[in-house]
Amino acid sequence: MSSAAAARLEGIDLVYRYPRASVDAVGGVSVRAAPGELSTILGPNGSGKSTLCRLLAGGLRPASGTARFAGRPLERWPRRDIAREVAVVTQREHVPFPITVRSLVAIGRYPHLGPLRREGAADREAIAAAMERCGVAELAERGYQTLSGGERQRARIARGLAQQPRALVLDEPTAALDMRYEMTIFRLLRGLAHRDGVAVLLVTHNLNLAARFGDRHLLLEGGRMAAEGDTASVMTADNVSRVYDWPVGVATRPFEEGEAPQVVPE
Ligand code: ADP
Ligand code: MG
Repeated sequence: MSSAAAARLEGIDLVYRYPRASVDAVGGVSVRAAPGELSTILGPNGSGKSTLCRLLAGGLRPASGTARFAGRPLERWPRRDIAREVAVVTQREHVPFPITVRSLVAIGRYPHLGPLRREGAADREAIAAAMERCGVAELAERGYQTLSGGERQRARIARGLAQQPRALVLDEPTAALDMRYEMTIFRLLRGLAHRDGVAVLLVTHNLNLAARFGDRHLLLEGGRMAAEGDTASVMTADNVSRVYDWPVGVATRPFEEGEAPQVVPE
């Protein structure tokens, strides 16, 4: 399937409840990440953002509804094939063994390796480029366990980029990053979407960068869709103050990327 329009990652009416929980973590949510767009998932702590990411990554099976990539339900994709198409940078990850940054990033290439499992020139190039773009090239031979939280995070984003997926899901990838790297990653993700046609889906708590760089947004509240649509329709004072339960003002500001509403808590 080569048409860009075919590379959409989407969830339709997804419902999921954790074992022994008394309410649904995700209670009837539809979401889509279209090629060429940076889409965001927003919402307070516990609103179901990470659960939604797991459903879209095929790590959790919905009780009802479907998650699909390029029109085909995730459970009908062979594991290795879907791993070439969809990359996921999870919110947390325990890496229980010693590994260098380069080796961690190289894991992103596994689904692409041939039968001999040996890296070729294209693999080495993808690994080097991903490390460069995430600012971890200098850390290539360092042990992952010796890195700071932000450096680890950048190495894990680099692994997702090395995978060269058509859809990329990232769960709070910039939570541990300083301002410069947070900006670098938002720019990078926007470029991946707009220049390279990747379907990028990003969970973030940074509403202002989401408004500035994102094309579409899904605002979650208690596992349900509180708002969905383009930036102007989602990022209103009404929506944000209601869902985050805190009064806010919203004012439009000009940026290099265009005008964007910016949220200021009262
Ligand atoms: P968010 O990422 O928006 O903070 P999550 O998707 O992690 O929210 O969690 C949504 C809800 O599901 C929360 O109420 C959370 O406590 C619950 N939850 C998350 N993971 C589990 C789990 N493994 N078992 C039981 N409940 C969970
Ligand atoms: Mg989460």
